[in-house]
Amino acid sequence: MTSPDTASSTLDRTVPLLGQPLEALTAWMVAQGQPAYRGKQLHNWLYQKGVRSLADISVFPKAWRAEVAEVPVGRSQIHHRSVAPDGTVKYLLRQSDGQMIEAVGIPTAKRLTVCVSSQVGCPMACDFCATGKGGFVRNLDIHEIVDQVLTVQTDFGQRVSHIVFMGMGEPLLNLENVVAAVRCLNQDVGIGQRAITISTVGIPGRINRLAQHNLQVTLAVSLHASNQRLRSQLIPSADGYPLKPLLADCRDYVYQTGRRVSFEYILLAGLNDTPAHAEELAQHLRGFQSHVNLIPYNPISEVDYQRPNDARIRAFQKQLQDRNVAVSIRFSRGLEKDAACGQLRASQVS
Ligand code: SAH
Repeated sequence: MTSPDTASSTLDRTVPLLGQPLEALTAWMVAQGQPAYRGKQLHNWLYQKGVRSLADISVFPKAWRAEVAEVPVGRSQIHHRSVAPDGTVKYLLRQSDGQMIEAVGIPTAKRLTVCVSSQVGCPMACDFCATGKGGFVRNLDIHEIVDQVLTVQTDFGQRVSHIVFMGMGEPLLNLENVVAAVRCLNQDVGIGQRAITISTVGIPGRINRLAQHNLQVTLAVSLHASNQRLRSQLIPSADGYPLKPLLADCRDYVYQTGRRVSFEYILLAGLNDTPAHAEELAQHLRGFQSHVNLIPYNPISEVDYQRPNDARIRAFQKQLQDRNVAVSIRFSRGLEKDAACGQLRASQVS
């Protein structure tokens, strides 16, 4: 009935349970000699109650709980937690191998958004981003991504409504785990795919691969420049994936998925925020089913870029609006605690 591979993995007591769908959890319970209905209970306790150890699942027989108390559920430890004045909470989470990542909980009137990491560190080395300055360590596993959402949900005591893959790492370099985590967050945790955004700086071939997964998520592309020369200056990987093919792949994504693409554009004073840049950007996006998010630069210590003043930011926005580009300004939350876009570096702040 089951292949030898499945049989051995269902018996395995070292693979974290988090991230697995109901069928796999049920098969695992049955392989442990438990009745199948306990799979549903395990699923509910993992994803809805956020249990951290099988020993705490009170509906399971006591003796058996003691026997499986050491089976890894796949939850992280909150190593540090800091709250910004605007209510944004930044978590430093310790993984089972000791590696640290950051997740951010961002509450607004009706929403609770979680900004999740997809990698420990990041290999892309964008010049304006703190994560890139620290280098790359490894990809996150499926359960390590799902855990971030459950951790924020439990800590806030409130259901998470939105997820953005805008924490540490480049999601499309960890595409299979990110897609599996999205499916789990959707089917097992119960978060709508349309409330999930995957942000990428662009990896050749991967936007297309993401489209083939047929998810209803929003794709956000970190553009940050209106021409190839400037983009290469800010983003080293842009040399290997020029603006033209990147934008062509984005158009294909819209065509294949019927979903609008968002473009993120950091505003760096004097560098990419002039009227000529706005004009150039509008030209690229003419007739493109898209939305531009302007992100005023959030300072990091290693580089001395400047955030434009408010008048300049508004003028840039107005110029795009006048050219019929859908555009909003994202004033980042959590700035005071280094929890804003581009400031995540897995370090402790006061
Ligand atoms: N690697 C992915 C997701 C992580 S970053 C990506 O590049 O899209 C999430 C967003 O924050 C990206 O648009 C990123 O370029 C932006 N960002 C990075 N550093 C920033 C900074 N110092 N100020 C404002 N936004 C920043």
